[in-house]
Amino acid sequence: MTELKLKVVGCGDAFGSGGRLNTCFHIQGSAGNFLIDCGASSLPGLKHHGINTNDIDAIVISHFHGDHYGGIPFLLLDAAIYGRAKKIQIISPPGGEQRISTLLDLLYPGTSVLEKLNVEFLEYCAGKVSLVEHFSVEAFEVIHAEKALPHGVRIEIEGKVIAYSGDTSWTDTLMPLSDGADLFICECNFFSTKVTGHMNYLELEKKLPEFSCKRILLTHFDQEMLDRLDRLKPGYLTDGMEIMV
Ligand SMILES: [Zn+2]
Repeated sequence: MTELKLKVVGCGDAFGSGGRLNTCFHIQGSAGNFLIDCGASSLPGLKHHGINTNDIDAIVISHFHGDHYGGIPFLLLDAAIYGRAKKIQIISPPGGEQRISTLLDLLYPGTSVLEKLNVEFLEYCAGKVSLVEHFSVEAFEVIHAEKALPHGVRIEIEGKVIAYSGDTSWTDTLMPLSDGADLFICECNFFSTKVTGHMNYLELEKKLPEFSCKRILLTHFDQEMLDRLDRLKPGYLTDGMEIMV
């Protein structure tokens, strides 16, 4: 079985805590490559790591917050200007095409970016598995700002499973989402602060023995978490980290 290479382009929160970029994970398999989330800072992040953005096959979006999908207009603008020919698939909760088209009109009016590109918008819905060219996506509703249509995603590719919580408070849904996964990336924004919509570490720590995934890594830290790194039992992501799955 081939290994997947996951590059952490960004694993920060919406506020750039610790100078970390917004969420963006690049996964390279033998048959293709794709992004999980594409936060506002993703295009410079991808270029910083020498990733050819015009070769990316697909982008999976967990929810409609700028630190998770705000980089897409910039990535598409770059592709339109520099003549991308290859199709790109954007897989999101319902309404992705309209939201991204509106964002493009606001940020770069009159550039007709989508007309110059071969973009295929696909919508997933919770409880169903969506088949994409090189992989499948199963989406799970999670607990975060409702209007952003928050989901966690479980992606199967080349015999491996990568699960990602998206942004969420604790929910038992994280168990089936991450069941037996080769890698589970779990949002853990806060250490002890309790806020609906985000995880706090002290709560997550109690649940750790119940997980059946092979590896769990934490992401999306605010300053409170960054100040307590030595206290964390599981590993955690850092920008630029490379993980073989
Ligand atoms: Zn976020």
